[in-house]
Amino acid sequence: MTHSRRTILDWCDETLQTDLFKDYTPNGLQIEGRSEIRKIVTAVTASRAACDYAVKQQADMLLVHHGMFWKSEPATITGWKKDRIATLLKHEINMAGYHLPLDAHPELGNNARLAKLMDWTTERRFGEQNLLNAGRLNTPKTLGELSAKLHQKLGRKPVAIGDETRIIENIVWCTGGAQGFFQTAIDEGADAYITGEISEAQFHLANETGTAFISAGHHATERYGIQALGEAIAATFGIETVFFDEQNPA
Ligand SMILES: [Zn+2]
Repeated sequence: MTHSRRTILDWCDETLQTDLFKDYTPNGLQIEGRSEIRKIVTAVTASRAACDYAVKQQADMLLVHHGMFWKSEPATITGWKKDRIATLLKHEINMAGYHLPLDAHPELGNNARLAKLMDWTTERRFGEQNLLNAGRLNTPKTLGELSAKLHQKLGRKPVAIGDETRIIENIVWCTGGAQGFFQTAIDEGADAYITGEISEAQFHLANETGTAFISAGHHATERYGIQALGEAIAATFGIETVFFDEQNPA
């Protein structure tokens, strides 16, 4: 099946409610390629490896969570960024990214999909742009057991700060680089906060407050939303989608 790029991206924008978010990268089309879409490669990040894979797969679109144009980056197109963009332009492959709207979506989002994978119940979404999730483990576990399950399900050993024998039931989570929201989880009285990355300060806050901190990997926790979006596009439009994964320890 072939559909126009416009049809697919309009559907993504509407489904993910892109308009409601303030983001620091453009959501939707970032690099224009062919106007007709027959095959899509999904990936967490529009890395060089993902671009090369899209070429190899003869895809018409690379659909990612982390695109290429971030407010914090220089606006120039040089070096590694030029190489990625040149690869896509040469093969007329569209690149589209959905960032915060894909973290937050209640069914397809990274937070929702991590909960599904881990058997957590989401009770509410709150905080900055509803990016934080509060809920509970359907089966309470010690911190050590919860870490072991994250390791098993995500294929990456998490960094867990706190008493390993403490029972964890009420949790707050946000996938990716959301260590900065740890204070919000502490204020909520959560037993643990789970996110993708850790910085120096969270070690001390976890030890001093008793709210455990788990860094389960930025890539590892954000592998699921983009796959869910790809599957939803495949189901809606009958377009072939293929997920490209990388071994990214960060
Ligand atoms: Zn991310």
